Amino acid sequence: MKIYSMIATGCPMVFCSRSFLLRSIPFLFVLLPASTVVAQTRPVSELAPGVFFYFGDELQQKSANCVWVVFRDYVLAIDANYPWGAEEIVTEIRKTTDKPIRFLFDTHYHHDHTFGNAVFADAGATIVSTEKTAEEMHIPGQYEWDHGSQYSGRNMTGTRREFPSLTFDQQLVFDDGVHRVELRRMGPAHTGGDGVAYLPKEKILVTGDLCVNGNPWGNNVADANADYDKWLDVLDTMAGWDIKIVVPGHGDPGTTETLKQQRSYLADMLNQVREGIKLGKSKNQLTKEIDLSKHPVYGANKVSITRSIGNMYDKLSAKEH
Ligand SMILES: [Zn+2]
Repeated sequence: MKIYSMIATGCPMVFCSRSFLLRSIPFLFVLLPASTVVAQTRPVSELAPGVFFYFGDELQQKSANCVWVVFRDYVLAIDANYPWGAEEIVTEIRKTTDKPIRFLFDTHYHHDHTFGNAVFADAGATIVSTEKTAEEMHIPGQYEWDHGSQYSGRNMTGTRREFPSLTFDQQLVFDDGVHRVELRRMGPAHTGGDGVAYLPKEKILVTGDLCVNGNPWGNNVADANADYDKWLDVLDTMAGWDIKIVVPGHGDPGTTETLKQQRSYLADMLNQVREGIKLGKSKNQLTKEIDLSKHPVYGANKVSITRSIGNMYDKLSAKEH
């Protein structure tokens, strides 16, 4: 695995309003003074020849992972991060190739994956997504953009929005004989329009937030279009693909086992929340009683679990009662 250097950048003060956190913010940022400088914790790595991985660092408000593939004549990148993360990623891409960045694929509409779209567009990229993700960017995504600083943790003044202009229903394939990247729609699951990137030659799967790994904040299960049962089916489906490396939306690369752990955690939470609702238990009771500690990493963060159980309870009790 070839290692590339990463530029350390500053980390400004972060604020979060309670109402937004209750709504759908997936991560609680750590409050740091404006002058604090935090070094990037992971260098860019080459997962396979011409396939690079950028670790999204939560503590620097650059939380979404990014992968880029260097084709013969162009670069396809996956997930834009925030504007400052996107600028850093473009700088990192430039260290690996001088080929034009022609495409940027948004795995889903959430702020941490799309707010940096304009940086890629300015670098020459066409923004790509599923049709449903493009649609979601206009409604729930607009709410996020309108409250951008609360979501991103940084001042968004001077940034602009860029929507996908190349969309697909079920699948879009990039293949130049050297690399093949299959963009496949898998949602509704974590959102309505979730898409993944599958590289059959390198056996790499880039999941977006259908899967996270070693992420202290777990998944965001609050999305209005989330479908938990289909999400479990999607994780089962992808676990059946021929995969060596799973790149999650957040956290370190893993394997098919990572998909299975993610599924096990979500299924356990879903079963316990459903059972509690059937028994007439309150949200407060469930957040106190449900035990997910047997799931390593996912089950360790009580704050995250409490929030996720509450979000799941709200969605399921509204839908099933
Ligand atoms: Zn995310």
